[in-house]
Amino acid sequence: MNPGAAAFVPGSYAYASEPQLPTVQIISTEEDLHKLLSWLGHESIISVDFEGADLSKGAWRNGEKLGSHVDHGRICLMQIGTRQGFAVAVDIMMLGARAFELGLAMILESDRVVKVVHDFRQDADALKHQYGIEPRGIFDCQLCNVFLRRLDNFRTNYVLGSSKLLSSYRIQQGSVAGYGVVTQEQKQRIHTRFSQDRHLWERRPLPADMVQYAVEDVKPMLQLQQIMFQELVQKLGNQQVAWQLMLEGSQAYAADFLDLECRCRLCCDAAANARFDGFRLKQRLQAVPPQRLPPHLLSRVLGREEDQEPLTAPGPSCFYVNSMDESVPLPIQ
Ligand SMILES: [Zn+2]
Repeated sequence: MNPGAAAFVPGSYAYASEPQLPTVQIISTEEDLHKLLSWLGHESIISVDFEGADLSKGAWRNGEKLGSHVDHGRICLMQIGTRQGFAVAVDIMMLGARAFELGLAMILESDRVVKVVHDFRQDADALKHQYGIEPRGIFDCQLCNVFLRRLDNFRTNYVLGSSKLLSSYRIQQGSVAGYGVVTQEQKQRIHTRFSQDRHLWERRPLPADMVQYAVEDVKPMLQLQQIMFQELVQKLGNQQVAWQLMLEGSQAYAADFLDLECRCRLCCDAAANARFDGFRLKQRLQAVPPQRLPPHLLSRVLGREEDQEPLTAPGPSCFYVNSMDESVPLPIQ
């Protein structure tokens, strides 16, 4: 612990010498975190993802613990990838709020560092309700895909998972020992393992294959973002306009769950979270000043008839927590 450490300012880090990359795949000491932060001082765009147990609001809301019926929802890892192909996981379980205080919160909340994510809704919900962090400067690839499909007049009732999205762009995904290349099917296998043990991400030491899985997830995201963004620029005919749309859109999309009941898989039917709610997104974006998001641009991507009404609330979860503190599927009625 070093409470006197200077505040970290993204993009303006002063170096006594060239920063050294941490050599570990998971960062669980402040010393390694400082190394990572000094390295990230160089970066204007990074990919970010979180892993945790039943991420969304969890048992905390507005800084207060809710009833003790089910204590759930905990951010365990924050994975970060850079343009050089370097990726690492920060152990939030071990470092706690300190990890954010030392600089990660500043990076997340800074407009000067773009965070490329894929579906940030549950992550943003967990960050806000567990740590009071409100990320800015986000580029959400899942949302970009929705906009691209809409500009091509395709249906967008459902959002795409990251594996599907990556393979649709023929981007090679990493491989994990024991699982091979992370395909949609492999992801499903790993997710089945998670859903059987809801505390899997909380275990320490984390199994090496899980760390690797988490880290591999952020590696291809910057390549994906570059390709998708170029496509969006082409369709909209203007780079600045495309950038504005993505930043304002991703900000609004990340806030999608904030005012709703917990959307974790213990509180609602997880599959319902894959529906795209154009109404809620449009409502948030209509509040953005026109100089930041011209109304004609908004109506190009969110002017469909289906955007006139919100989606129905998700149904109940398919899981419950039993007396052994395991999440188990509800018996099929
Ligand atoms: Zn929940």
